[in-house]
Amino acid sequence: MFRRSIYKTPAQLRSMIEPGLITAASLDAAGAAIRAGATTASVDEAASAAVLSRGAESNFKLVRGYHHTTCISVNEQVVHGIPGARVLEPGDIVSVDSGAQFQGWNGDSARTFVVPDPARPDLVAARSELSRVTEGSMWAGIAAMASAGHIGEIGAAIQEYIEAQGPSAVSGETYGILREYVGHGIGRKMHEAPSVFNYRTPDPGAEVKPGLVLAIEPMVTAGSEETFVEDDDWTVSTVDGSDGSHWEHSVAVHADGIWVLTAPDGGAAGLAPFGVVPVRPA
Ligand code: MG
Ligand code: MG
Repeated sequence: MFRRSIYKTPAQLRSMIEPGLITAASLDAAGAAIRAGATTASVDEAASAAVLSRGAESNFKLVRGYHHTTCISVNEQVVHGIPGARVLEPGDIVSVDSGAQFQGWNGDSARTFVVPDPARPDLVAARSELSRVTEGSMWAGIAAMASAGHIGEIGAAIQEYIEAQGPSAVSGETYGILREYVGHGIGRKMHEAPSVFNYRTPDPGAEVKPGLVLAIEPMVTAGSEETFVEDDDWTVSTVDGSDGSHWEHSVAVHADGIWVLTAPDGGAAGLAPFGVVPVRPA
């Protein structure tokens, strides 16, 4: 059976820069639209306008049965929340996952936001910390890509980062990593082989070498990692009602280093604490 190689050519990697930047712009727009009183549908519309105005299309809308540009997951929802009439409230923790397809190539990225709530500083601090830990674990996984021999080292780095945090200084909870949802290859399609686990596995996985492009996307809870799918058949929520956070970047490995395609700075700021300097693909 014919299988397309998971490794892309230098020209193909260059084609993935623009859809990555458009994806980043859609998340900038979504973030700017997030405030108390806004509906999740209005946040989705802001992301959609950013994608369309750059001549790209939403790759989420190419997923069978899905009709939105983003997934927006609030509080105990971790991923795959559907934008709609829900009104954001002060203190909500809001994960937005977005993507764009441009000239046949895809970007996929997610960020978590916390709606300000001056009346509940403890809640905001706990949720902000969950988001910071999740984002940090993503950067730890991306940093591991710069020197990893195999994909399995990425998940190990994510898990080690989260375990090293210990219990939350704010809530006392130990963080959970979702097991049933994972990162993935990305290219002509938004979801390609191989899977990228967010935890240690016995299988070392495929080789990390030039041409590999992965979406690294830890999904973390402030409690148990057990989840269920809500009655809308999409939204993934925690069983124990604990908060969730989701961060994601699409990252390319090339001959001279790594480059975070969905970050305008290539990941320079996020990777700096790990001593990794991203290099733009030539
Ligand atoms: Mg995504
Ligand atoms: Mg993804």
